[in-house]
Amino acid sequence: MLNRKTGGYPYAHFPQGEDPQSVYFPDAVIGPFIDAAKNSLPDFFRAQREEQFSHREMSARRFSLEESKALIIEAFSSYDPQLGDKAKEILKTAQYKNGDADLKAEESFRHVAHDDSDPHQGRGNPYLRSDYKLDIAEGQRWVISPVAPGQSSLMRCLPASSPQRDYGDGFYDPANPQPHAAIEYEFDGTIDAVVHMAHEMGHMIADDYGLDAGHTFQDNPVHMQETQAYLGQHILYAHLKRHSDASIAQVAYEHFTLTMTNNICSLMDRDRLHSRPLGLLSAMAVLDKVQDQDLFAKRHVSERMWGRMGPADINQVLASAGVERPDDMKKLAQIEVQKLHQHLQGLVKDVSAPTPSAVRRGQDFSAGLA
Ligand SMILES: [Zn+2]
Repeated sequence: MLNRKTGGYPYAHFPQGEDPQSVYFPDAVIGPFIDAAKNSLPDFFRAQREEQFSHREMSARRFSLEESKALIIEAFSSYDPQLGDKAKEILKTAQYKNGDADLKAEESFRHVAHDDSDPHQGRGNPYLRSDYKLDIAEGQRWVISPVAPGQSSLMRCLPASSPQRDYGDGFYDPANPQPHAAIEYEFDGTIDAVVHMAHEMGHMIADDYGLDAGHTFQDNPVHMQETQAYLGQHILYAHLKRHSDASIAQVAYEHFTLTMTNNICSLMDRDRLHSRPLGLLSAMAVLDKVQDQDLFAKRHVSERMWGRMGPADINQVLASAGVERPDDMKKLAQIEVQKLHQHLQGLVKDVSAPTPSAVRRGQDFSAGLA
C-alpha cells in the first residue's frame, strides 16, 4: 500500500522496543544458531578451525567477466524469471572501464596462478583513502577493472546519493552522488570474483527496491545490509553447485565450503558474529526454506528481504517464509547447521587422502569485503 503523502510504502512496523537501525540481529535469531552450532559441530572441526582451506588450494577454474555475468543471470533467472530480468538490467552497464585494453589484460591473466601476497591491503589501499573519488556517469552502474588472480582489493556497492563514509582508522568509502547505487569492482577471474559480483548485486537490488518503495539506504535496518547481499550470493551458490559443467560445480562447492567454514567459526565469538556469520546463515536459511516452494512464495520472500514493500527486519523476512514461532526458528537453525556439518565432513574426507597439501592455514578472506 503506497503512502499518498510521500508516494512511498509506509515504514515497516517494528516490534516495540526494537531499534530498526540496530546493527545487531534479534536474539530470536542469534540464540538458535549458536545453540545449534554448539550441539552439532564436531570437536574435530572446532579443533581444526585454524587448519582451513584458502583460495590458493581451490581449483584453478577461471571465469571471464562475460561468463560471470551470464552465470549470474542464469542463476537469478532460475530462481525467479523477474529477478533474472532485474539482473540483466543491472548488468547492462557492467563493462570494463578501459574496454578492449582491459579485455586483453583479462585474457593475459587467465593462466596466471593465484597469488594474494601483494594486493592493496590495509592502509596501502588507495581506494580506501579519504581523497579517493568515485568517477562514474549517471546511468552507469559499474566501474570494473581486471586484475590478476588474488589481486582484487576492491568490491563494494555504494548506495544511491550516499555521502562519504568513514569507517575509522583512516578508511573511507567515497560519496556516490548518482541517484542510483554503483558497484566498484576489481575482477580477478576467480570463483571469488563471480560470487562477490552476485553479493554486490544483492546490495544493489536492495538499494533499487528501497528507492522504488520511496525509501533510502538510511531506512534499511543495518543488520539487513549484508543479509540482503548474501541472499544474492546464496542464489548463485545454489545454482552453481548443481551446474552441468563439473568444473564450475566443483569450484563453487569449494568456495561455499570455505566461506561457511570461516564464518561459522565466528559464531562462537559474539563480537564478530553479527554482520557476516548471521547474515550469511540467515540468508541461507531463508533461501533453503523457500527454494522448493512455488514461484510466488519465492518472489514474496526475496522481495521482502530486499525491501521492495518498504524496509523489513530479519524477523519479518523469516515470518514471510513461514518461520514465525520460536520453535520454527530453532528447527530451521538445527537443520541448517546440520547440513553444514555434513558438508564440512565431506570436504575433510575428500581432500585428506589424495592431496594432503590442500589443508593449510586459511585466512578469513571475507573479512575485508563490503
Ligand atoms: Zn557486502
